[in-house]
Amino acid sequence: PTGGQVTAAMIDMLSKKSFPLCMLQLHDGLRRDHHLRHWGRMQYGLFLKAIGLSLEEALKFWKDEFTKGPIDPDKFDKQYAYNIRHNYGKEGKRADYTPYSCLKIITSNAPGPGDGHGCPFRHSDSDMLRQKLSNLKIGKENSEAVISKVKEGHYQIACKMVFNFTHGIQEEEASFALQHPNQYFEESQRLING
Ligand code: SF4
Repeated sequence: PTGGQVTAAMIDMLSKKSFPLCMLQLHDGLRRDHHLRHWGRMQYGLFLKAIGLSLEEALKFWKDEFTKGPIDPDKFDKQYAYNIRHNYGKEGKRADYTPYSCLKIITSNAPGPGDGHGCPFRHSDSDMLRQKLSNLKIGKENSEAVISKVKEGHYQIACKMVFNFTHGIQEEEASFALQHPNQYFEESQRLING
């Protein structure tokens, strides 16, 4: 869906099948820690905007989760709401910020310890990636095929292999070249909704 049809309440459901691993790890990290660091909020927040989450729903989504942790509602409004409105072009330069492409996520601003952003195919070591893939239940053999692709440096192709495995399709059936996390989402929704 696009154009503000996605609500905060739909995100868990959508994340299960249609989010690429980079966004799934941000979503799960947010649910687990009730917090994401700045670059994680940027990468994930802009992705959510582009799947159709309105500003109002975004504020609700982030505030609900953050205030389950140590951040009280007042602090949220003072420290975090600005950045969310900013991402929607409602503050500062009022630019309409675009979500990050795979290339941007893979090549710039590598995550440090404790950061949730980045591309897991590029930025997680093999053991960590293996663990993340096992949560997707694509089978050991398929996981190892993905990891081999990663070792050759083909991160987006590896991610596209995961797309094919999790959607039960062959390469010919969804033969797009993966360039963007939002493209992953849209192609997935297209397959699911027909
Ligand atoms: Fe995200 Fe792109 Fe990496 Fe896939 S290849 S996890 S969509 S950045």
